[in-house]
Amino acid sequence: MANHKLDTAIAAWLQLAIDEEHAIELGITNGDYSVFRNRAELYRRTAKALEYERDTGIAICVCCFKPLKGGKLKIFADWVDND
Ligand SMILES: [Zn+2]
Repeated sequence: MANHKLDTAIAAWLQLAIDEEHAIELGITNGDYSVFRNRAELYRRTAKALEYERDTGIAICVCCFKPLKGGKLKIFADWVDND
């Protein structure tokens, strides 16, 4: 399914994650890299959720990967169900 807006957004989120990881590699995190690591993880989850939406047409939550319109749908191996 072609969706150029989502492709653009996915690429942007992945680049943000790369930038955070690059900061860690460069050691420019003022000693505590956990915030950079957490942001990188969130940005990669966001890209993953958008990839799923692009490929299926179903928008899902970045935090839990559940469909935004409710219901339960196990999509990814690292799924965490907080119910
Ligand atoms: Zn959620």
